[in-house]
Amino acid sequence: MASIPEHHDVLVIGAGPSGAACAYWLAEAGWDVAVVERKHFPREKTCGDGLTPRAVRQLEDMGLGAGLDNAHRYDGLRACAFGSVLELPWPSHPSFPAYGYVITRHDLDQMVAEHAVKAGATLYQGVEAVSPLFADKASDAEPARAGAAGGAGGAGGAGAAGNVFRDGGRLPPCTGATVRDKESGQVRDIRARIVVVADGANSRFGRSLGTARNTSYPMGMALRGYFRSDRHEERFIESHLDIRDKSGAVVPGYGWIFPLGDGRVNVGVGVLSSAERWKGTNTSRLMDAFVDFAPRSWGLSDKSSCGAPTGGRLPMGLAVGPRTGPTTLLVGDASGSINPFNGEGIAYGYETGRLAASCVGRALAGEGGSALADYETRLQDAYGLYYKVARVFVKIINEPRLMRACVSTGMRSESAMGWLLRIMANLVRPDERGPAEIAYRSLVALARTLPDA
Ligand SMILES: Cc1cc2nc3c(=O)[nH]c(=O)nc-3n(C[C@H](O)[C@H](O)[C@H](O)COP(=O)(O)OP(=O)(O)OC[C@H]3O[C@@H](n4cnc5c(N)ncnc54)[C@H](O)[C@@H]3O)c2cc1C
Repeated sequence: MASIPEHHDVLVIGAGPSGAACAYWLAEAGWDVAVVERKHFPREKTCGDGLTPRAVRQLEDMGLGAGLDNAHRYDGLRACAFGSVLELPWPSHPSFPAYGYVITRHDLDQMVAEHAVKAGATLYQGVEAVSPLFADKASDAEPARAGAAGGAGGAGGAGAAGNVFRDGGRLPPCTGATVRDKESGQVRDIRARIVVVADGANSRFGRSLGTARNTSYPMGMALRGYFRSDRHEERFIESHLDIRDKSGAVVPGYGWIFPLGDGRVNVGVGVLSSAERWKGTNTSRLMDAFVDFAPRSWGLSDKSSCGAPTGGRLPMGLAVGPRTGPTTLLVGDASGSINPFNGEGIAYGYETGRLAASCVGRALAGEGGSALADYETRLQDAYGLYYKVARVFVKIINEPRLMRACVSTGMRSESAMGWLLRIMANLVRPDERGPAEIAYRSLVALARTLPDA
């Protein structure tokens, strides 16, 4: 006799920041949610390990403020370039704290995933989603019946174009996944009324649903390693804005040193690799050059290195789509939600996971597919214009002369750099008309008049 497939309200693919946050908010609201995660926690994830005030706010909202007590708290950013150094504390803001944390993803992701389980989510670790399941008929895709969200879309049509969301494609009606237990090799089907895809920057599962990246949008490449350092308890994270390629050109990116407070610092380089000139930039060489170039006082060397650096891709600015379908949503890096201004993705993973959970909850409660379609509107409300401004900024700094001019001008004025930090970390105050807010609103007004960047 064939076994009856497991069935849940929601299946989440991946338990990184976006999947775990989505699962937490859904479980907290009382929905039956299962998460499959191909690794076992605690697991390593290549990252700079930096949490900005936006990320801290999301963790605190999930009730995890106390869980951060043992993490290394820091007060702001030390920006270094062309011989100048500016210490920029996090600004005060009505919605976000004026501090951040540096915490390994090894510890952070386990904490959030366990929290989702405590809230009632079922977490399958060491279980990989290998292929999507589809409704036998489009009408079997449950939430779509109740809503006016439009057709089923299609894996082929939406994905191949390379410019997916301008085409307004939709994800196909996915109703679950065939999953494989990595240890036993056992394969089974998990079905759900709604599937949330949170499988990260490579997003194989997402791509098998027909998603693609808009290649005209910014894309980052970054590499990081750990080093032992006497300065591991510093209260400022450090960014070097004048890293150079082998020709001596200032690259559109930065080198970082983030103190972990446990004897180590996280050191890395990130470069925006989408512009033709920077495609194929050798990040290993950049990393070696940065380790040589970083202030001696950090004590970075082969001897203090804790192991070979590892790297990854950073899809930015909502570059991946389509992001909605009659039974499916994309969140976090799978949707390309990293902030192009600074390469931050953890906060946007938590935020998009939470936005998705609220739309999924509405869909399950009776609104159906229209609530899932509303996810795209909510994403655009939250990030649309901000990311458009960021994409224009990226186009400017891809030109080494302009990158150099921007950085050296900013470094001459602490207050100008403070405003820039506020804009780049998405911490502009809605309730104020200070210089950062005026500058940002002018940029938004300009971005509104431009065709999609
Ligand atoms: C070098 C580097 C440095 C970075 N530094 C920072 C930083 O300092 N601060 C910051 O905010 N952001 C940083 N980022 C970006 C940040 O790491 C990502 O934006 C963030 O991890 C996105 O979270 P996510 O949940 O969407 O994806 P992920 O964190 O990638 O999580 C996806 C999860 O899905 C699992 N998975 C994948 N496929 C499957 C499958 N088929 N079945 C089951 N499970 C699956 C994976 O194992 C993983 O656990 C950095 C990125 C890089 C590469």
